[in-house]
This record gives sequence, C-alpha cells and structure tokens, in this order.
Amino acid sequence: MTTVYHDEDADLGALASEQVAVIGYGNQGRSQALNLRDSGLRVIVGNIGDAARARAAAEGFEVHDVAAAAARADVAMLLIPDEVMPEVYAQEVAPRLRPGACVSFASGYNVAFGLIAPDARLDVVLVAPRMIGPGVRDRYVEGGGFPSFVGVHQDATGRAKARLLALARGIGSTRAGCLEMTMAAEAHLDLFTEQGFGPLFGQVLRQSIELLVEQGYPPEAVLMELCLSGELAYTAQRFVDTGIIAQMDFHSHTSQYGSMTRSARLMDMDLKPRLLAALDDIRSGAFAREWSAEQAAGLPLFTQMKAMRAHIPLADWEQQTRRAFRLGR
Ligand code: NDP
Repeated sequence: MTTVYHDEDADLGALASEQVAVIGYGNQGRSQALNLRDSGLRVIVGNIGDAARARAAAEGFEVHDVAAAAARADVAMLLIPDEVMPEVYAQEVAPRLRPGACVSFASGYNVAFGLIAPDARLDVVLVAPRMIGPGVRDRYVEGGGFPSFVGVHQDATGRAKARLLALARGIGSTRAGCLEMTMAAEAHLDLFTEQGFGPLFGQVLRQSIELLVEQGYPPEAVLMELCLSGELAYTAQRFVDTGIIAQMDFHSHTSQYGSMTRSARLMDMDLKPRLLAALDDIRSGAFAREWSAEQAAGLPLFTQMKAMRAHIPLADWEQQTRRAFRLGR
C-alpha cells in the first residue's frame, strides 16, 4: 500500500526548537533554505567559500564553513553534489554531528549504494524533491507545491518521522504530496529514468530527426516539428494537468486515429529486455561501482563523451534552427 503525506500529516512544530543547517547553497540548497525560513524554521547555511556562500549571506542567512554548520545542527540537510558528498560527509559532517541529530538527503544514491553509512545514533531521512531547484522556490512562492519521495532510513531518536514530515512541509512539498519510499527505491527509480527511459526516448528522437533530414526535409523544419516548437513540452505538461489518456482528446481526429493504429503496429516491439538490463545494472550496484571508478580515474570516459556530443550532426542542425527562430543560446 502506497502512503502519500499531505500538509495535515505534518507538524512544523516538530522542528520548532531545532537548528536546521542547509549544507550547500546551490540548486536545491538555496531554494530549500529560503522555503524553510519562510515556513518559520531556524535555518543556517554551511558552504565552501564561493559565490554561493556570498549569496547566502547577502540573502540574510548566518553562514558557516560546512564543518561549523554541522556542529551547530540538530538537522543537517546535505544538499551538495552527490559525487563529492561521501568525502565531505566523512571529513567534515560526520565527525561534527551530535548523537540524536538528524541527517537528511535529497537523493538516496549515496546511502543506497553504501558510499555513506551514517552512525547508528543519528536519525537518517530522505526528502527527495521531484523538481529542479528553481522550481522548488518558484512553486513555494506561488503558493503551490511539488511532489517528493520521502522516507525514514534510520530512527535513532523515535522522532525521525516527525522531523522528516516537518522538513517536507517546511520546503512546501506536502502541499503537493510526499510519497513514502526507501533510499534504494528512490535511487533505482531516479537512475532508471536517466539510464533506461531517457536514453531510449533520446534515441527515438535522434533517429527520427536523422531519418527525416536524410529524407530531404530541412533540419529547421524537422527540429521545430519534433521538439523546438514547444508543442512536445506543452503536451507533456498536459499529461500532468489533464492525464496521459485524457489529453489525447485535445488532438485532431486524424492525429488520434493515426497515432492509435500505428501504436498498435508497434505492440510486438519488446523493449523490456533492454530496459530490464538497465535496471539490473542499477540494482546490482554495477553502475554505482563503475561511476565511482570513473571519478577516481579523473573522468576519462565522461570527458571524452561530453566532447563527442558537440560533433554529432544534431548539434549543428540545432544551432541553425535556434538562430533562424531567434531562440537564443
Ligand atoms: P549543486 O550542484 O547545485 O551544488 C550545491 C552546492 O554544493 C553548491 O553551492 C556547490 O558549490 C557546493 N559544493 C560543490 N562542491 C562542494 C564541496 N566539495 N564541498 C562543499 N560544497 C560543495 O547541487 P544540487 O542542488 O543540484 O544537488 C544537491 C542534492 O540535491 C543532491 O543530492 C542531488 O541529487 C539532489 N537533488 C537535486 C535536484 C536538482 O534538480 N538539481 C533534484 C532533486 C534532488 P559550487 O557552486 O561552488 O560548486
């Protein structure tokens, strides 16, 4: 049975006398810190000495080095990049946290794959927004919310769930609903979207573009038709607002007939073995081991593949189309 928490399930009072330290004032950290403060919680920021730190100070936060913020925290929210988190946690956060403190993650990755193993005397919770950082702030300010995946990974004090729900409410997420799940499930689903669904969708898009250009249609027309007009993004938003099935009625009868009959012809195309292979790679920890090894080696493959993506034909066609339609960057 799936549990979804809403505002009425969460009491901000659970953190009324607690010091929340947001570690990392970046995409998520800035938005979450501002939302928590506007929700009436006591928030300080821990950050390295960079532009983000200066911004936190300019926006009225008491700012410390990461270790000093951790030492002051009843609740430490780790909102730094996942790849630096294990080292920062081991060196600067873990040694400073008091027994009974709560450590909160916005991604299950490091705990799920054993890269961080918090002390048994800590509460450990997951509050993972399904929303990019700026959206976390914008939705809150507009009075709306955004969903999150949440869970208690470790309850040392008996208060972990109350703390978790107060954090989720403080950032504005229980307004939309917070679905309970484990760190592992959150990490698996997140990685599957990036490594299973995403690449397959990307290949369909890329091969469709290449085919149409090979068949003589101008690249600008192809790119506009398939994605740059914004129709695809608008339709995807309709999935959310109206429903995946219900939004189909907004398309013309020709579109609906063609789409339904041609979808039926593809029913025998079994993509699940490829998708399952991606999921198995994730669940076995093979991907996490590969990614850790890649980082330890100085990112050779990552760097090489990033350089290659500037040289595929799509890169030029896209620039051409963006210029023609004055789409900016
Ligand atoms: P960012 O890339 O925005 O980085 C956050 C902050 O950490 C920045 O201020 C950055 O400084 C700082 N930082 C970088 N390196 C270090 C270091 N070695 N020591 C201390 N601080 C450092 O992170 P995100 O907000 O994107 O991600 C934070 C967490 O939120 C992650 O767990 C991520 O998985 C999760 N998350 C992110 C989402 C998103 O949309 N971005 C969505 C949902 C969850 P600087 O700017 O100088 O690099």
